[in-house]
Amino acid sequence: NRRIVLASRPVGEPTVANFRLETAPVPQPAQGQVLLRALYLSLDPYMRGRMSAAKSYAKPVGLGDVMVGGTVSRVENSLHPDFKAGDLVLAYTGWQDYFLSDGSGLHKLGDLAQPSLALGVLGMPGFTAYMGLLDIGQPKAGETVVVAAASGAVGAVVGQIAKILGCRVVGIAGGAEKCAYVTTELGFDACLDHHADDMAAQLADACPAGIDVYFENVGGKVFDAVLPLLNTKARVPVCGLIASYNATGLPEGPDRLPLLASTILKQRICMQGFIIFDDYGHRYPEFLQQMGEWFAAGRIKFREDVVHGLEAAPEALIGLLKGRNFGKLIVKLAD
Ligand code: NDP
Repeated sequence: NRRIVLASRPVGEPTVANFRLETAPVPQPAQGQVLLRALYLSLDPYMRGRMSAAKSYAKPVGLGDVMVGGTVSRVENSLHPDFKAGDLVLAYTGWQDYFLSDGSGLHKLGDLAQPSLALGVLGMPGFTAYMGLLDIGQPKAGETVVVAAASGAVGAVVGQIAKILGCRVVGIAGGAEKCAYVTTELGFDACLDHHADDMAAQLADACPAGIDVYFENVGGKVFDAVLPLLNTKARVPVCGLIASYNATGLPEGPDRLPLLASTILKQRICMQGFIIFDDYGHRYPEFLQQMGEWFAAGRIKFREDVVHGLEAAPEALIGLLKGRNFGKLIVKLAD
């Protein structure tokens, strides 16, 4: 059994030296257990938080412990009445080939044509987009919705749902290729590159009627550009702040907190953070139903960025935090 453990805690950007590949015998199930073989491992931005000992909504990964992560896994051997060899399940087995489970927390995937979708558009990131946009964002037809990391796992779904609802949707992404994909393939009305020097001016041009919903994925200078454009009673679901996940201190420049506070007051902005399964776990079935319908009808497109082999995971996670991925980042571990 190969597994990747947290070797040391990163300061700033993680490096491959923060991870260690180990080998151990493949465990054998006891009565009531199943042996799982991970086929696809999801890599997600929250993993950077788990590498840090700073206080958060979830416990950090311990030094020497296996890195956490969601997988699509296959039951190899079952001594559990509810599972049989060959079943595909969604599980939280971490960065390793094999895992022993007592069955708790496993979700059978049935005959999903492309099982890795359960880690993306039909899984946690899609669910995050769905609940954050609909429950907190409350978008209405004709309103302007802005989302960054627009070609990524969450952002791509946010924008496509907003289009289904009849909104004007403006994406922000890193580079011309991602922006072209966001408008041509995903159908956003506009997409601009956050590397451009005049990004704030481009955003203002793309949002002539201001911004009614800003789905916050990144923070940093993107949020600085958004803030002055927020309309009265705008909603801001705060989903993630990836621009600062590797930060070691406060950003440079003037203190923008007073501007944020006065904008919230004068424009009566509703800004709310959420942690998807903590806050909305009970609504997962509703999401699966609705997203399944949209997906089957061809109304939600997706793109996966697949890297191969467990040993590729550290470098791929490091890249995810810098925009090197293009689409939902997945590690393929086995056929
Ligand atoms: P993505 O697939 O979108 O990948 C991350 C992307 O973030 C990169 O590709 C890059 O895209 C963008 N990015 C990285 N650094 C910066 C930066 N400095 N400025 C602007 N963009 C940057 O990841 P996900 O869709 O999985 O996650 C998106 C956000 O949602 C993250 O903040 C994540 O933490 C959050 N999230 C929150 C959840 C919750 O429960 N609250 C659950 C799931 C995700 P580009 O090249 O386009 O800049």
